[in-house]
Amino acid sequence: MQYEAVIGLEIHAQLLTDSKMFCGCSVKFGSEPNTQTCPVCIGMPGVLPVTNKNAIEYVIKTGLALNCTVSPYSRFARKNYFYPDLPKGYQISQYELPLCEGGYVEITEDSSIKKIKLTRIHLEEDAGKNIHDGAGNYSFVDLNRAGTPLMEIVTEPDIRNPQEAVEFMKKLRTILKYINVCDVNMEQGSFRCDANVSVRPVGQKEFGVKAEIKNMNSFKFIEKALEYEIKRQVKVLKEGGRIIQETRLWNTDRGITESMRSKEEAHDYRYFPEPDLVPVEVEPSWIERIKTQLVELPDSRLERFISQYGLPGHDAGLLTSERATAEWFEEAVKSGGDPKGVSNWMMGELLRLLNEDNKQMEECALKPGQLVGLLNLIESGVISGKIAKTVFEEMYKTGRDADVIVKKQGLIQVSDESAIEKVVDEVLKNNQKELERFKAGDEKLLGFFVGQIMKITKGKANPKIVNELLKKKLMEDN
Ligand code: ADP
Ligand code: ZN
Ligand code: MG
Repeated sequence: MQYEAVIGLEIHAQLLTDSKMFCGCSVKFGSEPNTQTCPVCIGMPGVLPVTNKNAIEYVIKTGLALNCTVSPYSRFARKNYFYPDLPKGYQISQYELPLCEGGYVEITEDSSIKKIKLTRIHLEEDAGKNIHDGAGNYSFVDLNRAGTPLMEIVTEPDIRNPQEAVEFMKKLRTILKYINVCDVNMEQGSFRCDANVSVRPVGQKEFGVKAEIKNMNSFKFIEKALEYEIKRQVKVLKEGGRIIQETRLWNTDRGITESMRSKEEAHDYRYFPEPDLVPVEVEPSWIERIKTQLVELPDSRLERFISQYGLPGHDAGLLTSERATAEWFEEAVKSGGDPKGVSNWMMGELLRLLNEDNKQMEECALKPGQLVGLLNLIESGVISGKIAKTVFEEMYKTGRDADVIVKKQGLIQVSDESAIEKVVDEVLKNNQKELERFKAGDEKLLGFFVGQIMKITKGKANPKIVNELLKKKLMEDN
């Protein structure tokens, strides 16, 4: 029997607010333990939380970007459980009335588009962090993270294989970064997901029993964990066993998922409406205002890069994968750069150099107009395309303009025919053997002669003139 997988994801994204969800404490990462706390976020009795308006606004923004319906009326709920990193004894979350409902994300699989539907997006606060000393004698609690605003995005069980799950996460990450609501850092955990996985015989309508997989902190691990879990479940069923509903942890070292708790041990959170907070009412005018602040999203930008600039789909996809990259490109074109020329230099050289330096586009010192300056020097024949690569690297490193570097390093292309002719004559004279072989029909040697000429002129000879002169001389001699 053939089985297929059914997957639904629950994504947690930390919002880029300055302060916490219900108090004014900073959410800065990496400070001394318990220095970013106050009576509200350490759960003192009698204190009152106040909702962070920016957090609400970020979730509305996300909802609009992901085609959701923003609820005019939502409210917070208490999710009760005990853990040392949760001094209040409950987490403030949203339950039966989330801030956003419905919506979808489009992913591309084998060049066809698939919609992954969303169930909801809600707001909640993060817990603190338990730290255990190496020897196992002590445990510490750091509450700096307690109360950090988190947005939870829940998908419908629409995903059918690990690759789709990864595609979905990549697309979602791109969008959240575009609209600047989350720094989407998976290693630091500000963008993470749990995966619900079940399998069923192909053709069967009902879903199988699911397991929830936690602890996958990279795209690679999501793919690996899901592949493993699907295989495991199929094996159990093929051997006549049953899947039990449970939470499982991905073990990176062993490359397997391991049972953490079964449904019987699962929490009963006893959700109830949070009595200390007023419900959230979102006026249509607020939504409209946020709409006007939304930037153009990656999909629409990709389409536009193809239609407006005539770029191939591959270029458009790469250039729009990050907002900063797309904006750099458009600025270069606005400064007079030829779109395909700009695209080639960005994809070939700029992204390579940034990648080598492990840098983001935002950190790029080179300005779009400077690339256009370089393109103009090539266009007008001042430098050759080959020299331009060296100049570009120098520009990238120093932030200097192309013409400054070209002048300073004497890289101006030699287009003076008589000067080039001298070198051509010299090369032919000094390579008699090759010349004879060429005359005997070995025409591949043309490249050899060009190479020698370029070597002597340090790449500065105008290649067009070199070729013309060389061919003329070789013909003459024949
Ligand atoms: P729970 O009651 O365990 O919280 P939900 O129905 O709220 O489950 O769904 C939680 C997540 O699990 C959602 O992302 C949903 O798409 C996914 N999901 C639900 N049922 C299944 C299933 N049988 N197989 C895989 N994923 C599922
Ligand atoms: Zn606080
Ligand atoms: Mg649920």
